[in-house]
Amino acid sequence: MDLTHRPRRLRQDRVRGLVSETSLEPADFIAPVFVDATTDERRPIETMPGHERVPIDESVARVEEVLETGVEAVMLFGIPESKDPEGTRAWADDGVVQEATRRITSETDAYVITDVCLCEYTDHGHCGPLEAELRGEEAGAYDHAADCDPALTVDNDATLEALDRIAVSHAEAGTDMIAPSGMMDGMVTAIREGLDHEGYERVPIMSYAAKYESAFYGPFRDAADGAPAFGNRRHYQMDPANAREAMREVRLDAEQGADVLMVKPALPYLDIVGDLRREFDHPIAAYNVSGEYAMLHAASEKGWLDLEAVAHESLLSIKRAGADLILTYFAEDVAEHLSGRS
Ligand SMILES: [Zn+2]
Repeated sequence: MDLTHRPRRLRQDRVRGLVSETSLEPADFIAPVFVDATTDERRPIETMPGHERVPIDESVARVEEVLETGVEAVMLFGIPESKDPEGTRAWADDGVVQEATRRITSETDAYVITDVCLCEYTDHGHCGPLEAELRGEEAGAYDHAADCDPALTVDNDATLEALDRIAVSHAEAGTDMIAPSGMMDGMVTAIREGLDHEGYERVPIMSYAAKYESAFYGPFRDAADGAPAFGNRRHYQMDPANAREAMREVRLDAEQGADVLMVKPALPYLDIVGDLRREFDHPIAAYNVSGEYAMLHAASEKGWLDLEAVAHESLLSIKRAGADLILTYFAEDVAEHLSGRS
């Protein structure tokens, strides 16, 4: 028996750190923050323990809490005071994200990334204005839509114009980075051209480049009030069965000038994160989504898992797969743990 090779030698306590291939830092994390224009008090999100929707007045305080843990970046999502078929509040100068961005960037050192999409702003909950055949339905009652050709949902090219306006309005409010999440064809070009035209050449774009039509988004829809009123998003988000298609989809965003390429969700799609890492030199982001967070919390509440340990291991696996930036609801808890503060 030849036992010249004994990998266990390097698993002894005093050498483990030296040979560790992956480490997590609070600076790797981006903490999602929900700002809600319909409330004047903080509202806990039931399906995401520890997370809240906060009113605009509390947005600075909320971000300061994040910064105290060592996390330096936040991703803002907005819940507008009203919705309509076109999602017009998404690009309003006094919109919820614009207002929160103005306050947070002037009063804190946080790096502010703003989600650019329409699903929280349209009354039908889709990520853009609907195709002509679906327009004209009564607001909030899209019964007829279910009978339509299921391929008919969002009007891609009309959405691009809206995304351009939203991105410019966020830049005017002072956002540090724009993150389009709607999976529209051509969205990065539309936003890049719009930003550059208005003099925001320095604002980077983090594209949700490979965003899958995933059931793991469930709890987020509670948080952001963005469930579609009919149908689903499978005609614009990617089919979970497809990996090669992700390369094609992501390459288009890279060619259009995306600065950071994101995969969403993270844990069920670590193969995609790894593929992107090998294929592209861009920074890769992965979004550890609400369902990935909620399931660990639910199991730990039952006493079935050690929450702190599985949260850390989840984020470590995402980094090991090749992600440089990790969007996660665990950002604050894991950051505090890493810096020995919890
Ligand atoms: Zn959307």
